[in-house]
Amino acid sequence: MTAHHRKKTSGPQRHKSVGSLRAADFSRASSLARVRASKQTVEGIDAMFAIGGLVRNRRGEAVSGVRGGRFDHAVQEWLAGPAPQPVIAANGAAWLPIPGWDFPWLWSGFSTRSGGLSRAYCAEDARGELNLGFTAEDLRQAVSANRRLLAEAVTGDPATPLIALKQFHSNLVVRATFADAGRERPRRADGQITDEPGILLAVQTADCIPVIVVDRTRRAVGVFHAGWRGTVKRIAEIGVGRMRLEFGSKPEDMVAAIGPGNSVCCYAVGEEVLSEFESQFSYGRELFREVDDADVVRRKYPMLFLTQRAPGHSPIGPSLHVDLIEANRRQLMDAGLSAESISVVGGCTQCHPELFYSHRGSHGRTGRMMAIIGISSRI
Ligand SMILES: [Zn+2]
Repeated sequence: MTAHHRKKTSGPQRHKSVGSLRAADFSRASSLARVRASKQTVEGIDAMFAIGGLVRNRRGEAVSGVRGGRFDHAVQEWLAGPAPQPVIAANGAAWLPIPGWDFPWLWSGFSTRSGGLSRAYCAEDARGELNLGFTAEDLRQAVSANRRLLAEAVTGDPATPLIALKQFHSNLVVRATFADAGRERPRRADGQITDEPGILLAVQTADCIPVIVVDRTRRAVGVFHAGWRGTVKRIAEIGVGRMRLEFGSKPEDMVAAIGPGNSVCCYAVGEEVLSEFESQFSYGRELFREVDDADVVRRKYPMLFLTQRAPGHSPIGPSLHVDLIEANRRQLMDAGLSAESISVVGGCTQCHPELFYSHRGSHGRTGRMMAIIGISSRI
């Protein structure tokens, strides 16, 4: 490391701050800082620093950061939300209906991992799970049985045809018909739409964001798989466009739901993802946060943890997180849907491993959940 670097690490402002701190206070702050973060702890230290006459900068933030000032800052635990409450069907399948969507002609919901026959991703003594993807680790008959359980949970009939896709992070949207239920191999696409009653359309996810769109007036539906790549390729916006084209749907008649996925609390990404979003969306930058996975005391009072490393070269520090739920919400609004018509069911797949499969959380070895949508054949 060069002298130049060292100079940058400990700027004059920090020296000034530390200089006015009494030794006893510093010692107390340091020991407090070792406690795992909580807002209370920080408030305590805030109060103590106020007594010590320490000067903070204008924004009330510590002077630090790899990308200082470029993004909104947050701490992981402050962004993490509670898990949505699933409904347990009579057959044991746990799934998430969409609050407020009580159209009698509509089948809709998001599955969870809970309640099924799959044994591939749970402890030996645990109950079976609801893996819905034909993954390498799981038995085909267990997955097929799980798909029937989900169809029964949502439609009342386990024989309701459920049409899945071979997804590849594209923005390709296909129009599905009853004939697709009989296919040996699923079609390659990342979204599907229909106005035919009696079939369930599905996308599979295990961190990516599932988006469901419904035209209440013309009774047409669509479901889309939006990971970061699909989101950059505007699959939700394109999906709404296809529904307008195929069914004459109008945005003011549409409602949408965004399901569980890896959320801004957990979804750390590289700078290349930021570049992609910035190149495609005027609001691209607003979708990103700098998130401290380390504790909050460390973030607010970095002078307590000064190292000899140059900025950006310390293992301590914020990582860049992207908010794909907000990204898809913005796309639906750009497609003409009102903010009120979009329900965020949410639920972070990585924060809630008891309820959801997470590709990242399980280092790639995981099951799949489904978002499903269909028009009832009975009404
Ligand atoms: Zn999370």
